[in-house]
Amino acid sequence: MTDDAARLSTLRGRVRGLMPTVRRDLEALTRIPSVSLDSFDQGLVDQSASAVAELLESEGLVVEIVREGGRPAVIGHLDGPEGAPTILLYAHHDVQPPGDDADWDSPPFEPTERGGRLYGRGAADDKAGIMAHVAALRAHAGGLPVGVSIFVEGEEEVGSDSLATILERHGERLRADAIVLADSTNWDIGTPALTTTLRGMVRVVVEVRALDHSIHSGMFGGAVPDGIMALTRLLASLHDDEGNVAVAGLRSGHAAELEMTEDQLRRDAGLLEGVQTIGTDSLLSRMWTKPSLTVIGLDAPSVDTSSNTLVPSARAKISMRIAPDESPRTAYEALERHLREHAPWGVHVDVRLDDEGEGFAAQAEGPIYDQARAAFEDAWGVPPVDIGVGGSIPFVAAFAERFPDAAILVTGVEDPDTRAHGANESLHLGEFERVCLAEAVLLDRLGR
Ligand SMILES: [Zn+2]
Repeated sequence: MTDDAARLSTLRGRVRGLMPTVRRDLEALTRIPSVSLDSFDQGLVDQSASAVAELLESEGLVVEIVREGGRPAVIGHLDGPEGAPTILLYAHHDVQPPGDDADWDSPPFEPTERGGRLYGRGAADDKAGIMAHVAALRAHAGGLPVGVSIFVEGEEEVGSDSLATILERHGERLRADAIVLADSTNWDIGTPALTTTLRGMVRVVVEVRALDHSIHSGMFGGAVPDGIMALTRLLASLHDDEGNVAVAGLRSGHAAELEMTEDQLRRDAGLLEGVQTIGTDSLLSRMWTKPSLTVIGLDAPSVDTSSNTLVPSARAKISMRIAPDESPRTAYEALERHLREHAPWGVHVDVRLDDEGEGFAAQAEGPIYDQARAAFEDAWGVPPVDIGVGGSIPFVAAFAERFPDAAILVTGVEDPDTRAHGANESLHLGEFERVCLAEAVLLDRLGR
């Protein structure tokens, strides 16, 4: 047996032997309903932070629970051998609200196994991410070949509001050569993935004003435009006839060539019979690397309370997803320009930036990425694919900005059936063991 194969075989055996206790600890974490949304008991988020701190202390880490105006985060550190690199491990211990208990086939905070999957809120997102890190540390018990810092956030599900402050005040302790963020997904059962791109986001509110007061639609209609008519025409100008975003000056990229059939998309999205997909280019490019634009809210009189009136003004909230390497500032300026230039009939237009978030495009090459790909292949028997995620994960951009020299590896425990955030969230236990093994192997490889 080669040295590589022997080390892999040892780690494989250790991880296998560890899984029952890793599973037990995962279940204990899942039983704590650590919902970070304000209207839930925040004492439970404190309780989950303490539980995570205890797990890490048991692995010999020096641990502190920090709070910078938001929910409690857990920071831990363990020195590696002299000269060894330091790896920062990220996960979050807060969870989404469970929603209606009646939608769950077993109680959301009572982890339950069915068909090789462990069901429960947080069983995957992201308490399994925490336990993958812990399992990797346990697999090296006493002989960790690298230094490790760990950061377990307590408010990822409510927007990471104090993350920037935490990174500013405690960032020195988190400095690392590589960062493993375990909060994304694999491509399929049996196919691991590294998430190498995330789209950014720009959200605006646009208001269109045509009149200084409302007037009778019978008396004036036909000669005088109104707010709703002008706004709908303006919104219609945002896409071309094929459904591509028509805002000039936005960046656009191509996604990796992975198999995603239209049938699969139709099923996943719940597209009705006869309704077509929109846009051109591959489906994955449309969802991962090209801009998209959605009107997510409208202010105008409701149908039930409306009268025969020309409405003076109307508002819309627009959520635009932008290419991973696009600057939100540039994208906002392009959208604002488009809205001003396409306003019909000289109506007045106000555009206000509501929110923005950076996308992420990993420098997905170099020695650390090589080792990560090799570790995934060791664990799964097939190499990982590079995937994108169409949504934004604010903390990834925050880490990329704070630690520009670190290699950023976005990994995860999820698969297409996980239903994170939904009812019946679950973790595939077979894949979870491979996730734990891959991370244990990665630490070994990075320590050589
Ligand atoms: Zn998550």
